[in-house]
Amino acid sequence: MDMQELIYFFENISSLQRSFILVGGITFFWSIESLIPLFKFNYAKLKHALPNFFFTLTTVLVNFSLAFILLLVSDWVSINGYGLLNYGNLLPLSVYIILGVIFLDFIGAYLPHYVQHRVKFLWKIHLVHHSDHKVDTTTANRHHPFESIIRYVFTLFAVAILGANMGLVFLYQSLFVVLSQFNHANININPKLDKFLSYFIVTPNMHKVHHHYVLPYTDSNYGNIFSFWDRLFGTFTFLNPSKIIYGVDTHFDEKENQSISSLLYRPFEKHKSSTNN
Ligand SMILES: [Zn+2]
Repeated sequence: MDMQELIYFFENISSLQRSFILVGGITFFWSIESLIPLFKFNYAKLKHALPNFFFTLTTVLVNFSLAFILLLVSDWVSINGYGLLNYGNLLPLSVYIILGVIFLDFIGAYLPHYVQHRVKFLWKIHLVHHSDHKVDTTTANRHHPFESIIRYVFTLFAVAILGANMGLVFLYQSLFVVLSQFNHANININPKLDKFLSYFIVTPNMHKVHHHYVLPYTDSNYGNIFSFWDRLFGTFTFLNPSKIIYGVDTHFDEKENQSISSLLYRPFEKHKSSTNN
């Protein structure tokens, strides 16, 4: 596909088309989960998904209502030629896109994720994402609204220092959504294929380790699209999927972890240290 056409498409993508990617992705992976599940959860799939859908909706609302600032900043840096990617106007479009997605993934996703595991108050916000006991494709956007704001701010920062135009930003965000749905999906893909893919992108088996209930596994595999950030910064670990138990040791009440009000309140709770800390 012509790169210019690709950027043009994402520059002009409508909210309806973006929603289609979100809903289409969930539907697609949800169907595959029924065919080749990694874990045979004995669960009411829709009931389990309800809080996750609620938090997906709040994520969409946060991003939708703040989109105009992202648009302003992105237009401003691109028109004025600011940002690392625009330096000297040297990069061919294909390189601009590839480097753009790679570094948006680092500054907009890996970094805020890492920071949320390191700072106590931010961890309590991020706990909402980790306290799902049955990780599946609907877990991808199970983020407290505060987390959506944190991720948004990092993305805004990334757009400014990279000089990303809106076509690139929407392309990145679409990849972000689909990859996140893919690596959370409860699907059993061939371990050899998973391992091979995990040299490039974050695969289901790689990301599930991050959802294991105890340290040090919880504090590893932070990546979302590309796996090499974890390999580069020494945060990559492997654990056989058969050994993985989802959740967080400090918050193991399954009923509470399915309650929207209790999850919304989580950042205001007293901090609980992990037993294996
Ligand atoms: Zn995490």
